[in-house]
Amino acid sequence: MAYCQTAVSSDDSPLLSDLHRQIDGCTRCALSTGVTHYVPGMGTEKTDIMIIGEGPGKNEDLKGLPFVGASGKFLDVLLDSIGLSRDRVYITNVVKCRPPENRDPKEEEILACNAWLEAQILLINPKIIVTLGRFSMAKFLPGVTISKVHGQPKRRASDGRIIFPCYHPAVALYNGSMRAVLLEDFTRLATVLSQISS
Ligand code: SF4
Repeated sequence: MAYCQTAVSSDDSPLLSDLHRQIDGCTRCALSTGVTHYVPGMGTEKTDIMIIGEGPGKNEDLKGLPFVGASGKFLDVLLDSIGLSRDRVYITNVVKCRPPENRDPKEEEILACNAWLEAQILLINPKIIVTLGRFSMAKFLPGVTISKVHGQPKRRASDGRIIFPCYHPAVALYNGSMRAVLLEDFTRLATVLSQISS
């Protein structure tokens, strides 16, 4: 099912550009010491949909953009499968700097970077937040297991936003059967998006 949304500009707003500039150069945690580029996020603030992954990998670090490697290509496939594209959503990660050797982000790094993520959420004000992987899911749905909740929308009592947990697209690169799971979850996402925009 395709989710149809009014076409929007992919240009950053001055406020979003300013926030990206503030993130660029942050030294709140040790991850800043190894970066080639900070990876604040990409997309438009004029969207109902924010997508949050884990952290930049090698390609993202080199280009300063999120999800530009192999898992990013599959994210594009997932978006396209429901009639969306990168310039109609906003994409970021829980940490904006690449963890060395692509290790998982540490709790203290996620905590240090949380103020940036909160500022992005406040500015974009999405109706739905799609979490990719367990680290971004844990911020919004602590204590749950991704295998039990993926593809199931939860409304957050504190602000009414819908949290839509999904596996990280990278899992489909290592386990081909997860490709179908993610595609099915995005089909469910399209249904939720249609409901909130009607
Ligand atoms: S990961 Fe976040 S908190 Fe840590 S240095 Fe980078 S931008 Fe700052």
